[in-house]
Amino acid sequence: MAILVCGGAGYIGSHTVAALLEKNEEVVIIDHLEKGHKEAVLGGKLYIGDLRDTEFLDKVFAENKIEAVIHFAAFSLVGESMEEPFKYYDNNVYGTLRLLEAMNKYHVKKIVFSSTAATYGEPKRVPIKEEEETIPTNPYGETKLAVEKILKWGEVAYGINYIVLRYFNVAGAHKSGKIGEDHSPETHLIPIILQVALGKREKIMIYGEDYPTKDGSCIRDYIHVMDLADAHILAVDKLRKGDRSATYNLGNGEGFSVKGVIEVARKVTGHAIPAEVAGRRPGDPAILIASSEKIITELGWNPKHASLEEIIASAWKWHQGHPDGYGK
Ligand code: UDP
Repeated sequence: MAILVCGGAGYIGSHTVAALLEKNEEVVIIDHLEKGHKEAVLGGKLYIGDLRDTEFLDKVFAENKIEAVIHFAAFSLVGESMEEPFKYYDNNVYGTLRLLEAMNKYHVKKIVFSSTAATYGEPKRVPIKEEEETIPTNPYGETKLAVEKILKWGEVAYGINYIVLRYFNVAGAHKSGKIGEDHSPETHLIPIILQVALGKREKIMIYGEDYPTKDGSCIRDYIHVMDLADAHILAVDKLRKGDRSATYNLGNGEGFSVKGVIEVARKVTGHAIPAEVAGRRPGDPAILIASSEKIITELGWNPKHASLEEIIASAWKWHQGHPDGYGK
């Protein structure tokens, strides 16, 4: 039986597909390639289409014996979600509903769902535990939280078991250097810093230095994309055992400020990386640091590339090998 990876041509999806293939899993992939890249899919059976297209979904489920779904497919930019919230609800919530309906119709009862630290909003306590209140400060986080709630009721009504993984800031690339992060436009901190190091941009803009943090810039918890991929495999195995649904944070439990990340990138790349302070980016919480104790204890998750140096070094290898990403 196959694992269906929705959004498997995207950044995190493609790295998880690579990890599944390394475990000899049978993989079926859906991606509408609006953000994803065909070249990022290193194997498996790729269907190009949209989750909102019910006929298309029907075909994928009818043609394959799907055991479980790992669902990455979503728009994920905080800033863009503030400007175009309806677009986010349509793709992220409506699309997921269609997927869950198809799963139910074809008796597929296991799903691993990509959620986000953005569900917490401005947390009252850090490191953030899963019980922290969820009050998102942007539509992106709201759409992910909406799906979490849909999953809860889908389990009650239809017995669809789920693992929700709330990611903190994901970065880095596969050790092969074949796949990595390529967004268009790029808005994420580490790839932009590395584009400056490559000479593709003049400088990095630091969005705000008036936050209540030590150096005034925002603090985030960075996790290596392959450690994240491993967590998805553990989550599928947990569902296979018939364990109960659960929600887990995924981060390294250590916070780095924007200025701190730039410093580490200067060391790793040996480039000066000019920086300039700009205004805040709307929707950004000041500090997001994970407590990942729950997934470490319950699923035995064991991050192998926790240091920010290693995360940035692996991303740097990808960027140097692919200065234009996957190309046009
Ligand atoms: N950031 C920045 N300059 C940039 C891009 C991002 O200062 O060019 C900051 C952003 O405001 C946030 C942190 O870097 O505090 C991480 O942003 P990113 O977009 O990478 O991830 P997010 O936290 O939004 O998921």
